[in-house]
Amino acid sequence: MRDYYEALEELLSKTQTTHQTEDRSLEEAEGYILAEALTVNYDAPMFDNSAMDGYAVCDLNRTEWEIIGVVAAGDDVTATRLEPGQAVRIFTGAGIPANTDSVVPQENTTVTDSRVSVEQALKPSANIRRQGEELKKGDVLVSSHTVISPAAIGLLASQGYASVSCFKPLTLTLFSTGDELLSLTEPLTPGKIYDSNRPMLLSWLKHYAYLKVVNGGVLPDDYDTIKQALHQAAANADIIICSGGASVGDKDYVKQVLDELGTLEHWKLAIKPGKPFAWGNINNRCKVFLLPGNPVASYATTLLMTLPAIKYLAGLSIEKARPQKWKAQADFSIPNNKQGRRDFLRGTLSMTETGVWAAPVKGQGSHMLSGCVNADVLIEVPAHTNVEHGQWIDVYPLSHSF
Ligand code: AMP
Ligand code: MG
Repeated sequence: MRDYYEALEELLSKTQTTHQTEDRSLEEAEGYILAEALTVNYDAPMFDNSAMDGYAVCDLNRTEWEIIGVVAAGDDVTATRLEPGQAVRIFTGAGIPANTDSVVPQENTTVTDSRVSVEQALKPSANIRRQGEELKKGDVLVSSHTVISPAAIGLLASQGYASVSCFKPLTLTLFSTGDELLSLTEPLTPGKIYDSNRPMLLSWLKHYAYLKVVNGGVLPDDYDTIKQALHQAAANADIIICSGGASVGDKDYVKQVLDELGTLEHWKLAIKPGKPFAWGNINNRCKVFLLPGNPVASYATTLLMTLPAIKYLAGLSIEKARPQKWKAQADFSIPNNKQGRRDFLRGTLSMTETGVWAAPVKGQGSHMLSGCVNADVLIEVPAHTNVEHGQWIDVYPLSHSF
């Protein structure tokens, strides 16, 4: 059996990032992956400006100044200059007139007629945002191989970027396999179950703007049908995911088909849930992932193995592609851990005055999807390793927007 971390690194090392890029307007770029590093076009702030509503004053050796005008955000102050003893009324974001020594917040001032005065001594340069104090022209603004977040959209807009180069989205076709599976439009009959993996994974993967997800439907446990479906899908898809049929049962044909159509690596992962996991490619181009059919195992291997590989393939940096990992304190103990596989328990997080605590939910079977619904994280328990109450442990957040 393979250790999870070794398997993940091997999978990532055998995955190559797409090279196809396209220009996207900034309004259409959120959630896509940036294909170029973008530099700072303009110092930020672009010019010295006021951080407060108040008075810009010249000469800090006095406590009273004559008000000679008003400057507001958007005004051109290039011709405005203060002489010692002069002040201007100034608003947040307005340019700082030449010769300003400090900006006094309006609540610290007294105004009588055309004069402003203060009671306390002023600090030089107070309440002035200096040109370039945040960003200097020519520096890296946003790194390539990162997802463009709403904040990045704002930052890029502030620097005048109307369009950016992104990696082209990848097409992903998702199948479920199994004679027992019914779609939701079909009536339930003895021995059958509703297909839950496909709706679950379709809805999850659709969160990623850089994936164009195609619903491939349910495939029966029939060699020829599976072969034809995978062959057809591989003509258009960059990625195929099949849930079910990845283990060693007589009817697990998907592996055999992949072996015949392309290449296959079949791994027994030393993790629970999620032992059988296979991947490979068709036509040396289309990457294929075969997930275990048990819904929780399908879910966990998607989070821990498949999504990292897909993210890296789609253009994310390897660091960003790896699953997010946090730390929490164990609100449980496992005194005599005989578990031979790395266990990823479904758990909740609670924040208290003593820190962040993780505890397993009820229902840890790999067929018990309710555990995933009620969980915030996967709690990692390494094989043969005891857990003491209060010990710091690794947890994988189950947010579907990372
Ligand atoms: P398999 O990996 O095909 O051997 O399936 C393992 C278990 O997962 C069996 O109990 C299947 O019925 C169940 N299973 C497989 N695919 C799905 C699916 N798409 N939705 C719900 N359960 C499934
Ligand atoms: Mg099956």
